[in-house]
Amino acid sequence: MAIIPCGNTWVTRWGVQPQCILRPSTTNRLFPSSNCYAITACSELLDYYSVLGVSKNSSKSEIKSAYRKLARSYHPDVNKEAGAEEKFKEISNAYEVLSDDEKRSIYDRYGEAGLKGAGAGMGDFSNPFDLFESLFEGMGGMGGGMGMGGRGSRNRATEGEDQVYNLVLNFKEAVFGVEKEIEITRLETCSTCDGSGAKPGTKASKCSTCGGQGQVVSSARTPLGVFQQVMACSTCGGTGEISTPCNTCGGDGRVRKSKRISLKVPAGVDSGSRLRVRSEGNAGRRGGPPGDLFVLIEVLADSVLRRDDTNILYTCKVSYIDAILGTTTKVPTVDGMVDLKIPAGTQPGTTLVMAGKGVPFLNKNNMRGDQLVKVQVEIPKRLTGEERKLIEELADLNKVKATNSRR
Ligand SMILES: [Zn+2]
Ligand SMILES: [Zn+2]
Repeated sequence: MAIIPCGNTWVTRWGVQPQCILRPSTTNRLFPSSNCYAITACSELLDYYSVLGVSKNSSKSEIKSAYRKLARSYHPDVNKEAGAEEKFKEISNAYEVLSDDEKRSIYDRYGEAGLKGAGAGMGDFSNPFDLFESLFEGMGGMGGGMGMGGRGSRNRATEGEDQVYNLVLNFKEAVFGVEKEIEITRLETCSTCDGSGAKPGTKASKCSTCGGQGQVVSSARTPLGVFQQVMACSTCGGTGEISTPCNTCGGDGRVRKSKRISLKVPAGVDSGSRLRVRSEGNAGRRGGPPGDLFVLIEVLADSVLRRDDTNILYTCKVSYIDAILGTTTKVPTVDGMVDLKIPAGTQPGTTLVMAGKGVPFLNKNNMRGDQLVKVQVEIPKRLTGEERKLIEELADLNKVKATNSRR
């Protein structure tokens, strides 16, 4: 889609709202009708670029940052105004196209219709909430550290980030549970400044750049008009105050420390299990609550036993004679070697169940899965002379039996 210039007179005018950055002219509601001539004439300009309030030659990071700011202010969890959800979806769709090089170039050349015609799901959009989650993942969620509410985040209480620790267990540790001491490194509240970030004994003064507001308003001229945007003040980092930073933590209010914690891994965990240790993540900022520690489990393979959820799989080899006559054999289990009865006449490939010899159910440790033993019957490739003689006798016997039964 081509950008149609509509004269120099088109200057968007709207009130500056906190966090409401680059509000493009998607609805006439924002404009008195006397001002609308240019907008009507330029209705074609209400494309994905203007939805995100970015110019056609914006970089990917500009697009991403515009999306983040808008999605944050229109997310229906936060914005209860009528139409916020539609707006949120619109923003997500625009971002989905413009953040993808291929889609963006098709869109630039042929517009929305081009995407629909391109096939391969080009015209389809993902769930806007998934998109949002994926971009804000690991940032503490909607409430944490995102500067919601118009003020910078540095001086507000924010929740600490979650931390992840990868724990490798051997096969039996995972089956029966284990107590492990692990060492984690995370941010703890700085004891020098008690988390305030300011050098003890100093007083914070009002930031002169923003007059204590924490925000500055700037105008940007784009092909779509002049946009006013509210940005966090870079002098004070959005706090509205200038203070002498604490020497220990450099003003963050938190310092990196390692800690040993004792971890009780319950019986029955498996590769991919995730344990949550409450409040052992990074400390919060300015008195905010700490994040959690997530322990990701990886289980090493055993040399003979295999795990299938709560069952344990094992293959045992039995000679053809034992399969015919029956026997008792020793089988390795997680409880040690256990006798297993092979009934007479066991067919190759039979699975025998050793009930209760499997993995304890996670969170229901009085119940256990089974060990499933697959019987592999071994046929000898070579026979001694005597064995051959005996087998041939057996064969003769079988012929007699067959003849008799036909009579
Ligand atoms: Zn400090
Ligand atoms: Zn400032």
